[in-house]
Amino acid sequence: MMNERYAQLSSVQWWRQDLLKTARAIVVGAGALGNEVVKNLALLGWGTVVLIDFDRVESGNLGKSVLFTEKDIGRPKVVAARAAAARINPDCTVVPLDGELRAVAGAGLFARMDVAFGCVDNAAARIALGQLAGLTGCLFVDGGLTAWEGVLRLYAPDDTSPCYGCTLTEEDLADLTLRHSCLAYARRAQYGQGVPTTALGASVTAALMVQQAVKWIHDDPETLPVPVGEEIRVDLADDRYFRIALPRREDCWLHPRTSSPAPAPADWDRADTDWAGLLSSWRDATDQPDAVLRLPMELNARVTCLQCGAVRAVDHIQASSGSPGDKDNSCSECGGRTVPDLSNVVTGDETWTGLSPRATGFPPWSWVQAGLLGVDTVVHLELPGAPPEPELAGLDPRGRK
Ligand SMILES: [Zn+2]
Ligand SMILES: [Zn+2]
Repeated sequence: MMNERYAQLSSVQWWRQDLLKTARAIVVGAGALGNEVVKNLALLGWGTVVLIDFDRVESGNLGKSVLFTEKDIGRPKVVAARAAAARINPDCTVVPLDGELRAVAGAGLFARMDVAFGCVDNAAARIALGQLAGLTGCLFVDGGLTAWEGVLRLYAPDDTSPCYGCTLTEEDLADLTLRHSCLAYARRAQYGQGVPTTALGASVTAALMVQQAVKWIHDDPETLPVPVGEEIRVDLADDRYFRIALPRREDCWLHPRTSSPAPAPADWDRADTDWAGLLSSWRDATDQPDAVLRLPMELNARVTCLQCGAVRAVDHIQASSGSPGDKDNSCSECGGRTVPDLSNVVTGDETWTGLSPRATGFPPWSWVQAGLLGVDTVVHLELPGAPPEPELAGLDPRGRK
């Protein structure tokens, strides 16, 4: 039954509301741009929107965030945005994930989405997003803003197009290293707070981003071509619009290779209590007693003092996507600076293999790589267990173009 709400949309020649109704998108960043993207998706009756951000609403956000009001100050941005989207259109299900991208979204979540919208403002978050979307075959629509410019870039889930890494300059890479050296700085700069922007730029850019996603969902390249591998730049000061082909660099070290998880080994679902159980399940299934698991994030199990060399076990072992952590890790013996001993391989000898993936900070549907040490393997396995959100738990991975 067609809702009156969409009567006018359905008279657009190629428009198919049924496709939008079942479409799924992930939106990373609930700043000015993320607000506008979610607003547009809700108005159009987009089926499922997973919204990710770790920030709280501040009064300074109200001048350019259509989904937030005074009453939302102090609330998680994703929670406030969900309430507003429900008022705009109850047909659109917004699922809020309050946290850092890598901590709340496993690759398997992206494998269940059609489009990933990047509404972030720094290279580290874009790299993480590009990797997850590229690995799992999800269109990555990356938006960016300055006060007088809107930019979007479209990265296709295939092995011949440019990826986000292909477009990084030496300057970007230096910036990335700088950010990684100070977590507090990276956190402040992560989502839409660094560069002065206006509601106008966000609105224009988000409209272009969602329009590309709508075309992509219709999957009709003749009538509705999607400029994958291109950048679209809108100059709002001089009223100019550019389309630029992005380069594919053969020496790019970030190029994701699209994959799907291998069939889970026997007992995999019952092995979800700890890493040791998962490892032995894979070893038994493949008859490879030396097989290891490679994790998508690093674990910090112990720290070594740079001054006296003392080694100390870390109390709360947690996965990290690359930042060293902002906790005080000074040496308990001499007070000197310590360095973390990071590892992302499960060989069975680690002190933490009795812990579960969840307890060590891996979100549901994370993908791990399985294989032999020294062998460059690309067999991915999805961790057992579904997300606690009922709207997500039932989503199946879908076939990709
Ligand atoms: Zn690349
Ligand atoms: Zn020491």
